Amino acid sequence: MKASDFPPNYTIQENVALADFTNIKIGGPADYLSVVTDQKIFVDLYRHCLAIGLRFLALGDGTNVFFSEGGFHGLVAIIKFDNTNIVAKNAVVAEAGASLEQILALCIENGLTGFEFTAGIPGTIGGAVYGNAGAYGSNVGALLTRAKILTASGEIIFVEHDFFKFSYRHSDLKVNPAIVLQAELQLAKGDAARIKSECDEIIAMRRMKLPPPDTLTAGSWFKNIKDDQGNATAAALYLDAIGARKMSVGDAAVHEKHANIFYNKGNATATDMLTLQQILQERVYRQFGVMLEREVMYVE
Ligand SMILES: Cc1cc2nc3c(=O)[nH]c(=O)nc-3n(C[C@H](O)[C@H](O)[C@H](O)COP(=O)(O)OP(=O)(O)OC[C@H]3O[C@@H](n4cnc5c(N)ncnc54)[C@H](O)[C@@H]3O)c2cc1C
Repeated sequence: MKASDFPPNYTIQENVALADFTNIKIGGPADYLSVVTDQKIFVDLYRHCLAIGLRFLALGDGTNVFFSEGGFHGLVAIIKFDNTNIVAKNAVVAEAGASLEQILALCIENGLTGFEFTAGIPGTIGGAVYGNAGAYGSNVGALLTRAKILTASGEIIFVEHDFFKFSYRHSDLKVNPAIVLQAELQLAKGDAARIKSECDEIIAMRRMKLPPPDTLTAGSWFKNIKDDQGNATAAALYLDAIGARKMSVGDAAVHEKHANIFYNKGNATATDMLTLQQILQERVYRQFGVMLEREVMYVE
């Protein structure tokens, strides 16, 4: 099938390097790719792919994902619809492609508190709901009250918080696929100046702790470890104990500033990343009996 075989209202590119749509710059070609700025067109495109039996993947800003060398057989749709609005009772409604930064700016502008923990986290609200993005003990799932989703069978439905079964870096979308079209977040009235200064502090702290912003990375590679009582141990502690910061496989490396941040020095492949991951998992397991689990999404 050629891109020109799709109905003319979609803009489809063929054989597109997915590396260019990920922050870590890793991934082979997608058979088809479409950058979609309109929610209705996105839904129609999904239904079209469903009808012709074409595999479909929704992507946001690509900050938490890498693809195999083989790329993606099907269509990757990059979500760019990003309207945001404040609705009654201090809630924000954001289309899936709205960036966390954009939503935070709206919160600051309108003196809404609760979203400060996202300061410095890249990516869209759609991706953040999928992976229940969070920091400093807070997460997006805790704020989400309602969402408009596109089910696997192509229906649009509104669902409430409990639908997502949020837990640490997890939503049920990882198990039962559906696409977030729009999310509603409950915030509270706060003092704009105080909210802004808290965000500035968080950003400054992240800048000290994390690699420079132009690093080719997907954020924390592994999830932190939670025990039965819910106490967390940073994956970085285990990784530091086995000397991870000095390790690399090809151009896949652990960043010297943070043991749980893998990055691409330039030409790393998914195989390099997965090999590095496996070596570190094995060493941590041998020394501590703990199996680290990848947080970053891998698509093949
Ligand atoms: C430097 C750096 C720092 C980071 N720091 C943090 C941090 O502190 N805390 C944290 O939690 N994360 C962090 N991350 C990870 C990342 O920023 C978040 O997970 C972000 O929410 C991902 O959004 P995205 O739009 O980039 O998702 P993508 O990478 O585009 O997609 C990630 C997954 O979500 C799915 N997805 C995307 N959009 C939708 C949608 N609308 N509906 C359903 N599924 C969808 C994709 O199919 C994919 O499986 C960091 C990443 C980087 C690069």
